[in-house]
Amino acid sequence: MTAFDMHHLAPEYIRRFEAYVPSKPDDELKKLYGCKRLYRLNNNENPLGPPPRAREAIRRFPPAQAAIYPSGDAFHLRCKLSEYFGLDPNQILVGNGANEVIAFVIKAFCEQGDNIITADKTFAVYEWVAEFSGIEARLIPLRDFRFDADAMLQRVDARTKVMFVCNPNNPTGACWNHDQLVNFLNRVQGRQIVVVDEAYAEFVEAADYPDSISLIRQYPNLVVFRTFSKMYALAGLRIGYLIGSREAVDIIRRACVVYSVNGLAQEAALATVGDTEHIERTRRMVREGKLMVIQALERLGLNFVSGEGNFMMIKLPMNDMLAYRRLMQQGIMVRTMTGFRFPNYIRLTIAESEAMEAFLQALSSILR
Ligand SMILES: *Cc1c(COP(=O)(O)O)cnc(C)c1O
Repeated sequence: MTAFDMHHLAPEYIRRFEAYVPSKPDDELKKLYGCKRLYRLNNNENPLGPPPRAREAIRRFPPAQAAIYPSGDAFHLRCKLSEYFGLDPNQILVGNGANEVIAFVIKAFCEQGDNIITADKTFAVYEWVAEFSGIEARLIPLRDFRFDADAMLQRVDARTKVMFVCNPNNPTGACWNHDQLVNFLNRVQGRQIVVVDEAYAEFVEAADYPDSISLIRQYPNLVVFRTFSKMYALAGLRIGYLIGSREAVDIIRRACVVYSVNGLAQEAALATVGDTEHIERTRRMVREGKLMVIQALERLGLNFVSGEGNFMMIKLPMNDMLAYRRLMQQGIMVRTMTGFRFPNYIRLTIAESEAMEAFLQALSSILR
């Protein structure tokens, strides 16, 4: 058989792009590192698991319904969310995780020669989707670990279509407050789509955190992302959404994949909306966990970057890949940050005290 070289079939920007390599499943990792139990502190998951009503919705889901296509546009979920936020259901688009809605926005607004603007040290999916779609991603350095509004605006040109602001920023936890976001929107003057990714909104404690959804009325170019993966602990079911003006959403909907959100995810998500008790419980866990880790890091004399959200970054006096392997041998999985332009940093998901104690013990041992 002849070996065909099919590379010429792919556009240059695909040939140049390096595929993301996901980590191995837990059972494989345990075998590889010889650990019996694994604390997953690498993906900002909520270790408390889904809220009780979502668990119930998952248990109640009739297996026979697996044969039936789900609602193609998450009808009931959009109705419930629109009621909750006081919006029109047509202002919401649900996707297979917030990850998918990033692609919807880029596909809807960008073509070859266009660019998007975001930060150099933020959630990497905006950059990745742009690049493998042949769209230039302009990466603006953070300033004091925060998105730099001035520098972002300076890089805008006639081909800039979308600006992505991660608020709070993953992985630094830094936030723009209400006035900072409004100021930015005023300076953009509706010339670009401004996406505010609020994947961690439900964790935020700061009183001046933007009420971005209420700003959509005044700024029809504002698009807000939310997800059920983090606070609501439905990461495995893959469901997230965006909210925007009718005008913006009517355009983005054209680039949407219908039926990409499965029925079980829709039912579980529906059951979480407005569960303030779960949010309170999770926030308490994060508050206590952060305090405990910060006090220990100060004793150890380690620098860290901590803000809003259920995660923090820690600067190590050693290579982060080496630290990762040594921590894995003790059943602790963290995120190495060199690949995200923070050399020798790790990102830690804040979890229950038992997991935090196990992490701190393992960390002390590898530093010795
Ligand atoms: C986790 C995360 C997402 C994606 O979440 P999904 O699981 O795809 O819904 C989006 N943005 C940020 C900043 C995140 O941390």
